Amino acid sequence: MSSARVVVVGSINMDMVAHARRLPRPGETLPGEDFQMTPGGKGANQAVAAARLGASVSFVSRVGTRVHGRALIAALRAEGVDTTHVVEDESALPGIAVIMVGREGGENSIIYVPGSNAQLAAADVQRAAAPLQQARVLVAQLEVPQPAILEAFRLARAQGVRTILNAAPALAVDPALLALTDCLVLNETEAAQLAGLPDAVQSAEAVARAAANALQAQGLPRLLITLGAQGVLVADEAGQRLLPARRVQAVDTVGAGDTFVGGVATAWAEGQSLDEAVRLGQAAAALAVSRVGVQGAMPRREELGPDFAARSA
Ligand code: ADP
Repeated sequence: MSSARVVVVGSINMDMVAHARRLPRPGETLPGEDFQMTPGGKGANQAVAAARLGASVSFVSRVGTRVHGRALIAALRAEGVDTTHVVEDESALPGIAVIMVGREGGENSIIYVPGSNAQLAAADVQRAAAPLQQARVLVAQLEVPQPAILEAFRLARAQGVRTILNAAPALAVDPALLALTDCLVLNETEAAQLAGLPDAVQSAEAVARAAANALQAQGLPRLLITLGAQGVLVADEAGQRLLPARRVQAVDTVGAGDTFVGGVATAWAEGQSLDEAVRLGQAAAALAVSRVGVQGAMPRREELGPDFAARSA
């Protein structure tokens, strides 16, 4: 068992994806060409990313088991993620995304039913106090209610556990939560919105630097702003620096951010520096975007080569 203990508090979904030549118009039925049902949700994705990279991961979540919920839990267990603190709710739906993809235009339409993700409560988190307080790193995203995340961050911080908030999707964040965040991770669009920057025609890096200035001025100690193929802007007390992404042939960038966060959490839990953590996150995300799929594309540690071997915490 790795001593790099990571707890992820977050969402879990079943993604149901139907492919057709094009999207149907309202009221229209079209023949489909393919269908997949795969586990997703930012929380579950990040838990799987960290587990594959060698962290010892506990997942704190709520899963409706009216449909598909048990399969979601089984899939996490198969990845070695501890699901002891996943609350099962027989009367609820799990999170479900119904996704239609039109092949010719490359477009999609999505209906997302949050289901049990919207029900995760502070009381659910309190039952996971033991693993939370024994972790080295706690990670959360914004697909579950913020009062639950706040409770987790309070418990963790009381024992000196480091907190990572991935502020995705782009939502207003409770200032009390930001005040308990050791490292805020977000993409450039989310950063601009959170920092309240006006829409501006500037390079992505310029937007990220302006957002980092504004968020650092609010007292955030560490920021990682992801810029897709350009890499990550790191901002901490030593200043701001752009760490470039690896050059790869990207074929599917869905879930890049989740793989990155899983990698950062793993290396940070191993006691590596923030820049080293970003290096692992970026190496893992680069490999993931060069393959099709989300969880299925996430690499195992060995695939990253000897430069990225696990370190003991
Ligand atoms: P999100 O998926 O949250 O929008 P990004 O697209 O910024 O996040 O990607 C997160 C990280 O994944 C990037 O900082 C980078 O390290 C890696 N990444 C994403 N796209 C590419 C790419 N085309 N080539 C190499 N690395 C990539």
